Amino acid sequence: MEKYLLYINGEFKESSDKTTFDAVNPYSGEVFAQISKATAEDAKDAVRSARKAFDSGIWSELPRSERSRIMKQIVDKINENAKQLAKLEAMDSGSTIRKAGEDVYLSARSMNYFAKMADVDLDENIEGLSRPGVSKNILRREPVGVAGLIIPWNFPLKMAVWKLGPALAAGCTVILKPAQETSVTANELARLIDMTDMPKGVVNIISGSGSIIGNELVNNADVDKIGFTGSTEVGKTIMINAAGNLKKITLECGGKSANIVLDDADIDMSVDGAVYAAFYHQGQCCEGGTRLLVHEKIYDEFIAKLKSKVSKMKTGDPMDKTSDNGPVINRKQFDLVMNYIKAGKEEGAEVLTGGKSPDESRLLIEPTVFVNVNNKMKIAREEIFGPILAVIKFKDDEEAVRIANDSIYGLGGGVWSRDDARALKIASAMRTGTVWINDYHLMNDRAPFGGYKQSGIGREFGIDGIKEYTEAKHIHIDEIKDLNKKTWYKTVVPD
Ligand code: NAP
Ligand code: MG
Repeated sequence: MEKYLLYINGEFKESSDKTTFDAVNPYSGEVFAQISKATAEDAKDAVRSARKAFDSGIWSELPRSERSRIMKQIVDKINENAKQLAKLEAMDSGSTIRKAGEDVYLSARSMNYFAKMADVDLDENIEGLSRPGVSKNILRREPVGVAGLIIPWNFPLKMAVWKLGPALAAGCTVILKPAQETSVTANELARLIDMTDMPKGVVNIISGSGSIIGNELVNNADVDKIGFTGSTEVGKTIMINAAGNLKKITLECGGKSANIVLDDADIDMSVDGAVYAAFYHQGQCCEGGTRLLVHEKIYDEFIAKLKSKVSKMKTGDPMDKTSDNGPVINRKQFDLVMNYIKAGKEEGAEVLTGGKSPDESRLLIEPTVFVNVNNKMKIAREEIFGPILAVIKFKDDEEAVRIANDSIYGLGGGVWSRDDARALKIASAMRTGTVWINDYHLMNDRAPFGGYKQSGIGREFGIDGIKEYTEAKHIHIDEIKDLNKKTWYKTVVPD
């Protein structure tokens, strides 16, 4: 059986107490790899390695073009190993093989974007208002330092790249901690990075418990920044714990996004889009369109078509290329999702289709659509992270916006309409980080992604995402070298 070791300071090593944990296939229950489980001491060791690498300048002071070249080697390694990575991702996370294949492709694409951005000078010459004409003013974007990167289990490889890419492009050194549920592809990535010219200690990858090693990264005074994706609950804990040395934090947390179908939408397309928005990766997707808001004028026709489409989805083996819906990640998540189905019924919502598990031992849950939902119900307010869609009827655009914004979250959202101006007006009124019009889920490497309200702090992707791993430094260079020509006060003191 494959065994993965901790990757610290360019060396693969066992954890200090030699313990391991299992990589489990959620569909078959099979244990297919062993992963070294880092202790708090190992996490400290990884931080020391990243700190030493950062302070030495081996990465941050490398010419940008060189950083970019090495990051492109990672892209090549991902591409060369795409098939194997997709297979491992599907085995470890229960992702359908179709989606896992796309994830690997998107991971390579994103890393390539960040590799290119590593070569872009974000420094600026800014006009000095303080001493117009006599000062040069430079805005430098310097790497924030050592970054601790903590990621969830739903998109393991993609999340690893989304964190490593901007941090490395900015010149930081890193410690990446994947989720225990899905640590395999991050460990594969460690092996791939080790084959590149990446200097030792710049990238450290350690697996293990969030409350032990994640917590160590958050509390360790030698870590300057935490980039976290995960639940809002853990995000809040991290925010509190990171206060010790006033770490910079970026949090990408939960969501309960509204997907709004207007009465002038193409019904067939928006039905397809609603299914894609809600059931992508078994609904275990932070920006998923889990609240579907449908205009009353088209409601009946839309719901009939939605029912027909969802009931034909194929739930089963994620390795089968024709499967639409694989297992949820683990037993705990399975029970949680099934309890939400129960709660939806108890609150008076009606199951349009689905609602059952075709095979509990394989952690399968039918794609489930609830109708007769109102926005006060638990299934409309809480993030479920499973294949459950709550449909809410609305009568006009204003009401749709009001319902959409009546949430503690603000991560994604959609609008379906033939009228771009009308859709744009709604998109502008939605208090959320991303809105897709006549589409859903598409990430654009150049567009910032992140949350309003309790969906997070900060942004990933694009220049905004890279800036999250930098400190802005202003350097003022005064060109007056003669004291007699210098005035220290700008204004005349009033009598
Ligand atoms: P989670 O329980 O919050 O865990 C996320 C990561 O944090 C894991 O690596 C976890 O480690 C670690 N962790 C747990 N406690 C910690 C602590 N006290 N200090 C430091 N790290 C700690 O989330 P999840 O269950 O893996 O993922 C599902 C959640 O992620 C959903 O709520 C979803 O909305 C959110 N999510 C958000 C986005 C986004 O971009 N906004 C994307 C994907 C997912 P272990 O689990 O290994 O112990
Ligand atoms: Mg697993």
